[in-house]
Amino acid sequence: METQLTWYGHAAFKIKTPSGRILLIDPWVTNPAFESGKDELASLDRVDLIFLTHGHSDHVGNAVEIGKRTGATLVSNFDLSAAMITVLGYPEAQASNETTGHLGGELSLLDGEVRAQFVPAWHGSFVQRGEDATPVYAGCPTGLIVALSNGPRIYHTGDTDLFSDMALVKRFHKIDVMLVCIGDHFTMGPARAAEAVKLVTPKTIIPMHYGTFPVLTGTPEGFERELKKRKLKSELRVMKIGEPIAL
Ligand SMILES: [Zn+2]
Repeated sequence: METQLTWYGHAAFKIKTPSGRILLIDPWVTNPAFESGKDELASLDRVDLIFLTHGHSDHVGNAVEIGKRTGATLVSNFDLSAAMITVLGYPEAQASNETTGHLGGELSLLDGEVRAQFVPAWHGSFVQRGEDATPVYAGCPTGLIVALSNGPRIYHTGDTDLFSDMALVKRFHKIDVMLVCIGDHFTMGPARAAEAVKLVTPKTIIPMHYGTFPVLTGTPEGFERELKKRKLKSELRVMKIGEPIAL
């Protein structure tokens, strides 16, 4: 039994747990970098949990549609959960206190197979019903640690700059896989992302949140150079959009 990870492009990932449960993180499946995003979205008929790091549309993505169709449970912080329900119409029964948390707390999900913790991220967070609608505040943004029993411990940084408290992640968690934003402009770029890796010391690093739009200029090549400069031992794995890997 293995854990499978699929990158959908941008900050969106699908995790298949060793027992076959399907978890999505920031599921913007139809982002412009994922050519077969529409087909993938249509084929998602079973989803157990949808994790969100913050409310921006490039992270909420197709969450409401997937939630309505599959009955998936929303896992986010308290403020974002409320905004998802009241502003975007996420089914309230699928976003209860059982799966809603906040910074520092740990949630036990799917009968303990999944443990999740929200950790800080330096960014913003609002939800919006459409591009021209008024933004509605959605609490503070987060990063996310997802630990699978019989599987890896994954840290999704969310959208963030580098900050020194990332070192606290390491104090509590041995991270197997760090999904790290490198795109620059709206988040840290390659050099600051490499410093973040230095603080967290994961076994494997997977870059994300780059290349989706022209302004996201950070590249895996630039990131690799910055990692080498710092002689970091973490293994860089650059994923291809839509192709699952075993963890
Ligand atoms: Zn973003």
